[in-house]
Amino acid sequence: MRLGFCTQQACAKGTTRQAAGFYQKGESESTGGKRLADIISGMPARERSFRVEAVVLRHSDWGEADRLLTLYTRERGKLTAIGKGVRKLRSRKAGHLEPFTQVALQMAQTRDMPIITQAETVQGFLALREDLLLFGCASYVIELIDRFTYAGEENQALYRLLVATLERLNQRVLPDLALRYYELRILDQLGFRPKLFECAHCETEIQPIDQFFSAPEGGVLCPKCGQGAQGARPISMKALKYLRHFQRSTFTEAARAHVIPDEYREMENILNYYLTYLLERNLNTPAFLRRIIRQMDTHNPENTP
Ligand SMILES: [Zn+2]
Repeated sequence: MRLGFCTQQACAKGTTRQAAGFYQKGESESTGGKRLADIISGMPARERSFRVEAVVLRHSDWGEADRLLTLYTRERGKLTAIGKGVRKLRSRKAGHLEPFTQVALQMAQTRDMPIITQAETVQGFLALREDLLLFGCASYVIELIDRFTYAGEENQALYRLLVATLERLNQRVLPDLALRYYELRILDQLGFRPKLFECAHCETEIQPIDQFFSAPEGGVLCPKCGQGAQGARPISMKALKYLRHFQRSTFTEAARAHVIPDEYREMENILNYYLTYLLERNLNTPAFLRRIIRQMDTHNPENTP
């Protein structure tokens, strides 16, 4: 159930050990034994405290009672912070800092890593925790943004896309629609918009017949270029038609299309092929999501003969 949240960022570990130790014991090698309050009061006000709005991507235990949180913030992009004392039973911050939650945070900057001093829930997205399928979908949304972004690169449009997608899933919008739309938009935001209207190789206009899709070429290949091309996969005209429609539509317009499940599967396979090619490794959550859907099919009485 915790798939996708437990992976530690190796690069963050070295610095956060110092920070976590510092807060537990009140001193640290890295700070020369000074107290937190002294360090913060010695910094200019502008630097020592700041506010962000964020979605919690994942967390891991840190020290005795603390938590290391990976956040996607509106103001600063991806950010790692310490939630001090969050694992204590009576912590008032704890409930606000679960994965998927949209939060408003007050932070105290330290030399190593920000500390969360106040947390307030903006949207709790409870349905995403209560429904296994929605949990799997939200985990995939989080995994994609986590894998594709680096710390400190602000992208407000990407933040808005993340929040809007979690809102759609929480409102139980058809997951296929919400996820395919999210994938196409995240590709736009990250500069990997696939070419779907002209052949990515010879640039001739794509005709209304079955085509090929090539991840290395970054889009559709006409039958002449696609036949036998390394890494090119067939794509039906219908699946391509909906990919094109989703790519240039608002979500409301995309939601009006009558896409059948087989066409959604084909779109999913093509986009997954392109995304994993770009990441140069497989994603964890699609297999997890497929397992949930298989289990739901097995347990659905309508599916038993
Ligand atoms: Zn071509």
